Amino acid sequence: MGDIFLAGRTALVTGSTSGIGLAIAEALGAAGARVAVNGLGDEAQIAAAVAAVHAAGAPQVRHFGADLADAGAVEQMMQALAAWSPADIVVNCAGVQHAAPIADMPAATWDRLIAINLSAAFHTMRLALPGMAARGYGRVVNIASVHGLVASINKSPYVASKFGLIGLSKVAGLEYASAGSRDSGGVTVNCVCPGWVETALIEPQITAKAQDVGGNRDAGVRELLREKQPSQRMSLPAEIADLVVWLCRKQSHNLTGAAIPVDGGWTAQ
Ligand code: NAD
Repeated sequence: MGDIFLAGRTALVTGSTSGIGLAIAEALGAAGARVAVNGLGDEAQIAAAVAAVHAAGAPQVRHFGADLADAGAVEQMMQALAAWSPADIVVNCAGVQHAAPIADMPAATWDRLIAINLSAAFHTMRLALPGMAARGYGRVVNIASVHGLVASINKSPYVASKFGLIGLSKVAGLEYASAGSRDSGGVTVNCVCPGWVETALIEPQITAKAQDVGGNRDAGVRELLREKQPSQRMSLPAEIADLVVWLCRKQSHNLTGAAIPVDGGWTAQ
């Protein structure tokens, strides 16, 4: 058995039915946390995600099916979670993307993207942070993006939502900085800002790049990396998850209000 330093803790990971969120839910489960899985998907996908988090080592796993575009549904999810086991760790990972120039961006897409990528995190945080402070330990890790630090064309709601998420996290980091103690672990709020990570989210962009260069999927990946990510390597979801687990350790009590890039040098340029 590994280091189960999160035994007795409860973690909510939004958007954990696939990709980075699923890897984070597995890693927190492997560290001993009870895990609340959230995300969309058909029955089989949800059952597979719950089974994977169990298999990783989580003592208890439950799926909360809230559609995060709906603020009322987020509030209901947080009430149901509090009745199950209040969250010591909240990872806001759910996110969606839509690429189009500003002039062609449907207004409804803007509203939906801001609701899922930004407002849902505000709602989970406002409802979870007071309990964390009262218990002296809490971790909020918001999965932002390099696009919370720098912009790219054709991603107006995505970039706006991720810049907003970093600002929101800094405010919350300040508001809760003095909660708890070194012994209890304190309450911290941070963002992780990945560059390209191999998940379903970026497949449409890989396909578009492959078409641009008249090549196959590998050529599309190479072109995406060539443009912006100097390491020329994608991250894997499990690598992002390792950082999130580290942020949940008591030793990280003084790391708060930060936006941590994991981007192969993208934002160092
Ligand atoms: P993904 O598409 O594999 O996973 C997205 C998750 O969000 C899924 O579980 C999905 O069900 C959930 N979700 C989407 N809409 C939802 C809604 N309305 N209600 C509830 N859940 C919803 O994508 P991913 O690549 O794992 O992305 C996870 C996060 O990482 C996102 O916030 C994304 O912006 C961020 N990110 C990804 C990359 C990348 O290269 N993949 C880079 C930087 C940041």
